[in-house]
Amino acid sequence: MNAQEHLLTKLAEECSEVAQNATKALCFGLDDKYGDRPTNRERIVEELNDLFAVVDMLVDTGILPSDWLHLPSVLKKKAKVCHFMGYAQNVGTLQLPLGLKGLELPTTNSEQIDTKLIV
Ligand SMILES: [Mg+2]
Repeated sequence: MNAQEHLLTKLAEECSEVAQNATKALCFGLDDKYGDRPTNRERIVEELNDLFAVVDMLVDTGILPSDWLHLPSVLKKKAKVCHFMGYAQNVGTLQLPLGLKGLELPTTNSEQIDTKLIV
């Protein structure tokens, strides 16, 4: 394994650690913790910081471009997530009230899904 392969392995590892802690939060709650250990919310933040550290290393070594963060893509993804939250709400798998501020869901029904958003 070379250094590039090692860093890509760390990238995958940190992504899976974020996922692992997200699923723990789904099962037991964001503020649940075991003994003196950090809460699930704190663990997610810790793993996101680990992930960004590895991304920084990938940029520093030229494996990823320094301009990888693309705001229009971020905004497009946020819109897509909200779009499908609206769809989930319409098909009855996302319960109301959402209980979260900062989300604007489109009103749509299952036949009005824009297939351009399905990637
Ligand atoms: Mg980690």
